[in-house]
Amino acid sequence: MSSTAPYYHSVGKEIEVFEHACRNKIALLLKGPTGSGKSRFIEYMAHKLDKKLLTISCHEETSSTDLIGRFIIKGAETVWLDGPLTTAVKEGYIIYLDEIAEARPDVIVAIHSLTDHRRELFIDKLGQTFKAHEDFMLVSSFNPGYQRGFKELKPSTRQRFVAMSFNYPDAKIEAEILMNESQIPEDIAKKLVAIGSKIRNLTELGLTETVSTRLLVDAAKLIHTGLPKRLSVRVAIVEPLTDDLQVTEALNDLCNLMI
Ligand code: ADP
Repeated sequence: MSSTAPYYHSVGKEIEVFEHACRNKIALLLKGPTGSGKSRFIEYMAHKLDKKLLTISCHEETSSTDLIGRFIIKGAETVWLDGPLTTAVKEGYIIYLDEIAEARPDVIVAIHSLTDHRRELFIDKLGQTFKAHEDFMLVSSFNPGYQRGFKELKPSTRQRFVAMSFNYPDAKIEAEILMNESQIPEDIAKKLVAIGSKIRNLTELGLTETVSTRLLVDAAKLIHTGLPKRLSVRVAIVEPLTDDLQVTEALNDLCNLMI
């Protein structure tokens, strides 16, 4: 394998589960909040299993056409252009549909026949069905409904996947991740992790999203390149979380005491 492996710190049995799901050709669903390491995990596994990875960040406009493909006009001709899902099915890639619940319902319909024993993709515009390549694997993620504003995934869809929950790693692992990602010293990493866990426990603030590992990594990187610590925490951790001035002030005071 040529390129270096993406850095990923295992947090449980996820590597084993992925390998077995892949071997058994079962689709995989990663549940968990944003910034908890799901994408990094998939990048790591694709590298480990020596497979090519295509990632699609789904949003409310993402349609089956975006994934499957479309006819385009080229000169005087109309030619078919495969979308990323079709390419992955034909070539045996891993396709990662990030935040699948956000996509239009026709996306869920399109993946049905790929997520059961048929493992095939029907392209109605071509009137053709493609059997998935041996190495094809479908992975999706979604942000469970405990966070406001995110869509739910129907039980009938969920049951097409083997599912795993991701959450923020425990303090020791999270500090190691920060050190690896930013090269900051251990004492600062530990302080950032402590800030993270403190804010995560402040449920009474009613934050839509809480501090992710990603935000802590961002703060660590800013500190490492020389931005003052308190300013780094403010812009990387506090400001992205809320626009409420009072909450911002309270969080800033809290963080300033901790770093
Ligand atoms: P998600 O896909 O869940 O939104 P990401 O995989 O993009 O989250 O994670 C955000 C960042 O957090 C990564 O870029 C990485 O720096 C860091 N990170 C989180 N968890 C891990 C982990 N277990 N190992 C290594 N890095 C991690």
